[in-house]
Amino acid sequence: MEESPEALKRAWRTLADGLEAQGILRSPAVTRAFRTVPRHAFIPEKHRESAYVDTPIPLPEGQTVSAPHMVAMMLEALDVAPGHHVLEVGTGSGYHAALLAELTGPEGRVWSAERIPRLARLARDNLARAGYADRVHVLVADGTLGVPGAAPFHRIHVAAAGPRVPAALVEQLAPGGTLLVPVGTHGTQDLLRIRKREDGTLTEESLGPVTFVPLVGKQGWRT
Ligand code: SAH
Repeated sequence: MEESPEALKRAWRTLADGLEAQGILRSPAVTRAFRTVPRHAFIPEKHRESAYVDTPIPLPEGQTVSAPHMVAMMLEALDVAPGHHVLEVGTGSGYHAALLAELTGPEGRVWSAERIPRLARLARDNLARAGYADRVHVLVADGTLGVPGAAPFHRIHVAAAGPRVPAALVEQLAPGGTLLVPVGTHGTQDLLRIRKREDGTLTEESLGPVTFVPLVGKQGWRT
């Protein structure tokens, strides 16, 4: 594929049309966000021509950006609304964080914790280039402990998979809030959606099998 801006735009539109036709992009808000945030601004240059192919893409440090259909599915499952305070664990390229910022709008807030400083720098650069620098707060931190200073969060999205649900994230979820987290072994995981009712009780459902990079931290894997 050529890499001209026009070719990228065409590929972007075709991908979005396809995800809509498959019912993966469903809500007007997520569809608009997907059609607004340029994925190619977050993809390393050597893979940029694949920015709108529905496939995971490698990042530095052995990490990956999830495939577009997985990103769309997770955004639909999280149901972010304008004004929400959202925490992402695992900033990676910053792409998912930019989409979250589109969904929370200017009155909402997005914090994203990344444990690898080099990736946090990359994400900040990408977010600045795409115009989201002042809408996403990227922190270098072990996100399994949440971000206590900014809690509670209406929505929490975990972009890496651990052996169990980090207790700190459940604690930092606001009443009425939703936490999306892949949990399982290194090989395969279940994408769990945990909801905290207004009275503080929890419900948990599995949205199906997924494969994510490891969540490494105090309440994740050791390495
Ligand atoms: N959402 C990203 C993709 C994230 S890949 C995007 O849109 O590009 C998963 C990321 O989680 C990796 O960058 C990895 O370094 C990070 N990660 C793993 N364990 C973590 C932890 N405990 N705290 C914060 N980030 C973590």
